[in-house]
Amino acid sequence: MPTFSIENFGCRATDADAASTRAQLCARGFVLTAKHSAADIVVLNTCTVTAAADSQAREAVRKIHRANPQAQIVVTGCYAQRAPEELAELAGVACIVGNSHQSQISEVIAAIAGAGKNGSGAGASDFVPLDAIAGRAANNSERTPKILTGDIFDLTTVQAGTLGTLADDRTRPILKIQDGCNNRCSYCVIPFVRGRSRSLPPDDVVSEIHALVRAGAKEIVLSGINLGSYGRDLKPRVELNKLARRILNETSIERLRFSSIEPQDITEEFVSLVASSERIARHFHVPLQSGSDRILRAMHRWYRTEHYAERIALIRKTLPDAGIGADVIAGFPGESEADFQSTVAFTGAQPFTYLHVFSFSERPGTEAVSLGGRLAPEIIRERARHLRAIGQKKAEAFRASQSGSVAKLLSLHRGGADWTEGLTGNYLKVRILGRHPANEWHETRLGGANIDTAEPLAFENDLSQRKITAVSDRNADVLHA
Ligand code: SF4
Repeated sequence: MPTFSIENFGCRATDADAASTRAQLCARGFVLTAKHSAADIVVLNTCTVTAAADSQAREAVRKIHRANPQAQIVVTGCYAQRAPEELAELAGVACIVGNSHQSQISEVIAAIAGAGKNGSGAGASDFVPLDAIAGRAANNSERTPKILTGDIFDLTTVQAGTLGTLADDRTRPILKIQDGCNNRCSYCVIPFVRGRSRSLPPDDVVSEIHALVRAGAKEIVLSGINLGSYGRDLKPRVELNKLARRILNETSIERLRFSSIEPQDITEEFVSLVASSERIARHFHVPLQSGSDRILRAMHRWYRTEHYAERIALIRKTLPDAGIGADVIAGFPGESEADFQSTVAFTGAQPFTYLHVFSFSERPGTEAVSLGGRLAPEIIRERARHLRAIGQKKAEAFRASQSGSVAKLLSLHRGGADWTEGLTGNYLKVRILGRHPANEWHETRLGGANIDTAEPLAFENDLSQRKITAVSDRNADVLHA
C-alpha cells in the first residue's frame, strides 16, 4: 500500500483536521510514515494567519520536494483555501485541496495514488480525472497540480472527525466541535478561509468522545475557531455549557479542556461550570489583542478593556489557581506609543499566567489592509519583544505561586533521560522525575526551587509522586487514586 506522511502548521483546528485526514487515510489502508523522504504522498496542512505562516508552508514544500522528488505533495488547509494558485507554482505539488473540500481529501488522495480501498469514490472521481493522473510524468515537477477549492461559505457542517483514533505521538486528542466564524475582526483572514460558524451536533460530539475514550484518551481538548459560539447555528440551539454537562454525564472522559474562548463568552455560568468539576481543566485562554480601547475599536473587537478585565477578574475570583492566557497583537496599524503603553499597562495588571504575542501581519482581503498608520517592522518587533517579556514574567510568577501545591498531571511524550513532561489542569508543563509512558496520570507536589529556565513552563518537581492507577467513578474527583 502507498505510504503517506503529514506535516501540520497552525492552530488546534488544523491539528484536528490533520488528525482526521490521518485517520481517514489509515482507514483506507494507507501506511503512515514519520519520514517525508519515505512517503509516496506527503500531506501538508497549512495555516495562513500571518505572512510568515505562508512562507513557512512554501519553504516546507520546497524542502520536501528536495528530499523526495518522487513524493506527491498534497497541500491543504487555510493557505490552500486562500491562495491555491501560489502553491500550484511550487514544484512537487500534486494537488491543492482547500478547506471547502476537506471532507473529500482521503478520496482525492486515494485517486491520486491510484490506491486505497475505495479509490473510485464519487468525491474523488467528481474532482480528479483519474486517467489524466495515471498518465502523468514520474517527476512531479513536470505536471500541473489539481486545484480543488470552492466557496467556503457554502459549508454548513463541521468536516473533521477523529474516527476514534489516537495518533502515536500525541497524548491529548483535539476534538473540533465548531468551525468558522461570523465575526469580522479587521485583521483576521480566518472567516474567509474557514467560512461561517457551524457546530458538530451534540450526539456526534458524545459519540466522538466515547470513541476516543475507548481508544485510550484521558484528556480531550474541545476546540473550534470561535468555540464560544458553539451551537448557535444548530436547531434547536445548543449552549456550550449544556454540551459540556452532557459530556460529563454521559461519557467517562477523565479531563476535558476548552481551547480559546472569546471574552464575551466567559460568563458566570461558564466559569461556574469549569469550577464545578475536577474533570474540567482549570484553564482559560481568552483572546485580548490590545489593551487600548481605541485599537480594540479599530480591530472591530466588540468589548473594551473594562469588560475584558471584569471577565478575567471573575475567573480569578472563582478559581484562584486557574491558568489564564491571552493572545495579544503588537503593532496593529495606527497603534501609537500611547496605545502600546496602554497594552503594556493592561497586560501587566491582569492575572495572566502566560501570553501569546503576535506581530501584526497584513492579510490580503482583510479590512486592516486599507488602514493607514502602518508601523515599521522594527517597531512591531520591538513591541512584540516587550510584550513577550511581560508574558515570560507572568509565567514565572505563576510557576512560583504554584510551588508546593499538589497537581494531577498527564504524562506527555516528551522527556529526557530521567524525566518526562507532564501537563497540569491549569496548563503548566512540569517535569516528572523518571521516564514514564505517555498518557498516564501522576499526582505530584510541585517544587519551585529548581525552575528550569531553558524550559519556560517547566518545573523540576520531585516529591510524593504517585501514579494514579484507576478512576472508578466517572463523576468522582479523579485525583483520588
Ligand atoms: S473572532 Fe475575530 S479573530 Fe477570532 S476567528 Fe473570528 S474574526 Fe478571527
